[in-house]
Amino acid sequence: MMQKKPFGEKHIIILGGGTAGWMAASLFDQAWGADGARITLIESAEIDTIGVGEGSTPYLRQFFRTLNIPENEWMPACNATYKCGIRFPGWSGKPGFESYFHPFFSELDQDTGYAFFHNCALRRGGIDVPVNPDRFFVSAQLAAQHKSPVAGDGLRHTPDYGYHFDAGLLGAFLKKRAEARGINHRIDTVERVAQDESGDITALHLKDGGSVDGDLFIDCTGFAALMIQKSLGERFVSYGDVLFNDRAVALASPLNPAEGLPSETVSTALGHGWAWKIPLTTRFGNGYVYSSAHIDESTAEDALRRHLGPAAKGGEARHLKMRVGRVENHWQKNCLAVGLSQGFIEPLEATALMLVQLTIEKFIQMYGEGDYTSRHQPAFNQRINMFFDGIRDYIVTHYKINGRNDSDYWIENRDNPHISDRLAELLAVWDGGGDFETLLDRYGDALIYLRPSWYAILAGMGRFPSHATSAPAKTPIAPMHQIHDLHTEALAYFPDHRDHLARMYPF
Ligand SMILES: Cc1cc2nc3c(=O)[nH]c(=O)nc-3n(C[C@H](O)[C@H](O)[C@H](O)COP(=O)(O)OP(=O)(O)OC[C@H]3O[C@@H](n4cnc5c(N)ncnc54)[C@H](O)[C@@H]3O)c2cc1C
Repeated sequence: MMQKKPFGEKHIIILGGGTAGWMAASLFDQAWGADGARITLIESAEIDTIGVGEGSTPYLRQFFRTLNIPENEWMPACNATYKCGIRFPGWSGKPGFESYFHPFFSELDQDTGYAFFHNCALRRGGIDVPVNPDRFFVSAQLAAQHKSPVAGDGLRHTPDYGYHFDAGLLGAFLKKRAEARGINHRIDTVERVAQDESGDITALHLKDGGSVDGDLFIDCTGFAALMIQKSLGERFVSYGDVLFNDRAVALASPLNPAEGLPSETVSTALGHGWAWKIPLTTRFGNGYVYSSAHIDESTAEDALRRHLGPAAKGGEARHLKMRVGRVENHWQKNCLAVGLSQGFIEPLEATALMLVQLTIEKFIQMYGEGDYTSRHQPAFNQRINMFFDGIRDYIVTHYKINGRNDSDYWIENRDNPHISDRLAELLAVWDGGGDFETLLDRYGDALIYLRPSWYAILAGMGRFPSHATSAPAKTPIAPMHQIHDLHTEALAYFPDHRDHLARMYPF
């Protein structure tokens, strides 16, 4: 018996040519192109892409692996650099915790990671032992020395890593590749979305007078959410009560070759939000993410310029609005929302493209197992909401446990009573000396962030009893000198970040 092809002969219409649209086109083509699925991507020449989104989690490595695109092909085209993790200066203010690093961890950190958890347990019990994550994770050490996270031969385990890249160039790279693989590309603006009596979308009517019909419609229209919200009326679940930031101002600045090429994102807390600094091979991307209820555009731009100092001189600022939250159902009728149209959780941990990937991958898997009007739809939506809400809680933690008193913004964030019950429980158990490990296990996958990330944020921001006493004799404390030696030995395998990239491509 012939096996049923999940999408043979059908026509997938992707509306939107931002990063989400081209990622969707690439992944659908990879999964279903050979089965005969036709893919058309429509984008407007009149409506810009958002033009930001330059940091990733390690999950983006999986995207390029799926498409069989090696680093030496896409990285040069996107001025890309490696990312060992994110540094967070200025969030806590507690002595000893002025800055901490959220590492991308791997098996290389196995032993030192356990030492870190162990020390955290002691410190939660009031014993004064080293707990800043920077000292326990190899990625933090790599970033501190401007090293590449890609080791030379000889190391048994290698650290995980993400990337920084020019968002516009990544879109252009994926577009060129998709067109070469036969994806139809139309430039036009959709003026009307036609639906049948059941609510399914049947066609998109274009400004030039034509129309395009299809079987499955992928809404990648960014914050416009043209199909999922404007046509299908999907409810938007705002995260505004826990994530106050709804604006950003972005500004590029030059690299200083004398300073080496950083392999980390830096996310510095400022008066009413935080500023990102992302190194590409050609420039830094910077931006200030803030709350419009607390400051206006020009105050934010001034603050960013002050923060960047002379590097900001002459740089043109771009002001952006953000809609923070998610739709209730990402797959509704014959429409799947992907990217900013489905939701956004502000860029603090650079998770948006990971959600794009997860959404498309899960859809391909569940759709393939089910049918067109699938019984899998509720399970799919529940799963994607779990990803969004899990990430939301981790992002909210940065604000909830901040230690700043320099503005109402930070105090209101700290006093915010609207955090989820799950996050409240995590904080209560951590603070009260309860069984944090069991709680993490109980929530499991729903937390999205794994144990090291939860420890890194709570320990990195100094969430410990204020008084700590010296460790009594015979207390088993993590041997910091051994950890230091282990890192020194491992670090010798990693090249300088700039040298490594320069060997891959001249810049
Ligand atoms: C300040 C900020 C910082 C960010 N930082 C990061 C980060 O570090 N890491 C990360 O992963 N993500 C980040 N993001 C998110 C990231 O930018 C987006 O997830 C990503 O760019 C995908 O956007 P998109 O393709 O969904 O939407 P867009 O880029 O907005 O694209 C929308 C597309 O839809 C088209 N369109 C809209 N309406 C119509 C119409 N009627 N007819 C035809 N076409 C139409 C437009 O022409 C455009 O092509 C950030 C976002 C913001 C706001």
